[in-house]
Amino acid sequence: MHSFDVVIVGAGAAGLFCAGVAGQLGLKVVVLDHSDKVAEKIRISGGGRCNFTNTGTSPANFLSDNPRFCRSALARYSPRDFVALLQKHRIAFHEKHKGQLFCDRSAQDIIDVLLAECAAGGVTRWQPCSVKTIRFLAATAHGTCASSYEIDSSNGTIHCATVVVATGGLSIPKIGATDWGYRMAKQFDLPVIPPRAALVPLTFDAQAWAPFAQLSGLSLPVEIATGAKKESVAFLEDLLLTHRGISGPGVLQISSYWQPGTPIRLNLAPGTDLQPWLQHAKASSRKRIANELAALVPARLADTWVAQGPQWGHDWARPINEATDKSLVALAERVGRWELTPTGTEGYAKAEVTAGGVDTRALSGQTMESRQPGLYFIGEVVDVTGWLGGYNFQWAWASAFACANALAERLK
Ligand SMILES: Cc1cc2nc3c(=O)[nH]c(=O)nc-3n(C[C@H](O)[C@H](O)[C@H](O)COP(=O)(O)OP(=O)(O)OC[C@H]3O[C@@H](n4cnc5c(N)ncnc54)[C@H](O)[C@@H]3O)c2cc1C
Repeated sequence: MHSFDVVIVGAGAAGLFCAGVAGQLGLKVVVLDHSDKVAEKIRISGGGRCNFTNTGTSPANFLSDNPRFCRSALARYSPRDFVALLQKHRIAFHEKHKGQLFCDRSAQDIIDVLLAECAAGGVTRWQPCSVKTIRFLAATAHGTCASSYEIDSSNGTIHCATVVVATGGLSIPKIGATDWGYRMAKQFDLPVIPPRAALVPLTFDAQAWAPFAQLSGLSLPVEIATGAKKESVAFLEDLLLTHRGISGPGVLQISSYWQPGTPIRLNLAPGTDLQPWLQHAKASSRKRIANELAALVPARLADTWVAQGPQWGHDWARPINEATDKSLVALAERVGRWELTPTGTEGYAKAEVTAGGVDTRALSGQTMESRQPGLYFIGEVVDVTGWLGGYNFQWAWASAFACANALAERLK
């Protein structure tokens, strides 16, 4: 029988960071993972350079059924704290775009830092190792917060005081994602907000998308929005056309907010007041409408776009000086507000994260402990989902840090 203060299931971003901090605070920690590779998601993140945080992180950059939950942990461990850790390890990094920090060299630098921190804390790591069952033995010691668990793992039975679930979300199943964390929550009667793919490309009906499918690979800056009235959310980011639909940073961002069956809205010429712009072109040019539009959007998109005119009752395949004012007003409206209803997403195989997860109303925002004594949840398995841009790793670090400190406080 093995004995530890803390068993952490999942050697990813949150699990390794929590293990290192808890180990250095004097706890006897084992982190185990069913995969033989360590922190594979960090390795493939940020195009291999890991966008490890965002300097502008605030609770507003996260989705959750309980939006205030993430505040405390984010406040206690900031992007600056993680940057200081990287500086201590002499890791070179740079800012790419809107506060997004990336490694100069490779995402492996982040994994190496986490492993070095685990080594400094005397952490035991078992990989590959799977957990079969977890039994709660008792909350003992006269009503104090003491707890005791027995875990059957492929490395034998473990006795421990506390268990931390850091098994992440469902995205990219081929590198080890499982629903184990959600199942563990259910075993202990903790509610789970239904998981769904987020930061994911959107797809359309093949026939309806056919004219645009041939423009696959083309990208342009857009304003992209979804939701009505108070619920409306918009991003100003790039859009990428694909064979099956749309992708790119703007689409990934909006996908986290998109509800199936509802439309998304695209302004293909953000920052341009289209009606006066088209009227001016009409008064001063004899070019085809598509050629004029090509000053605002890529020429091939402009061509395909005006060819859609008849479906909306307009003939835009003509010189702009011959167009009626009415048809130019309609064109301005359509280009500024192209409504499309996706039929779905590319799913977990392509999603960067999973929205939903263990309901935060069953967790403490200060410690990440659940209503089940001694059972903690950190990282992506929790119903806290960041925007694209380094926020998801910042949540992994911050929730892990809160948890590690709470464990040390509990077990000292
Ligand atoms: C392609 C891609 C690129 C990304 N790029 C970025 C980025 O640049 N910046 C950013 O902030 N976020 C990025 N993300 C999101 C980010 O990787 C995750 O939000 C983050 O890794 C979550 O950390 P975690 O520790 O909760 O989960 P993970 O890092 O996913 O770790 C979970 C671990 O648990 C293990 N596990 C699962 N089930 C079991 C089980 N049953 N038993 C034992 N072990 C188990 C897994 O093998 C895994 O090692 C990206 C995601 C993807 C897919």
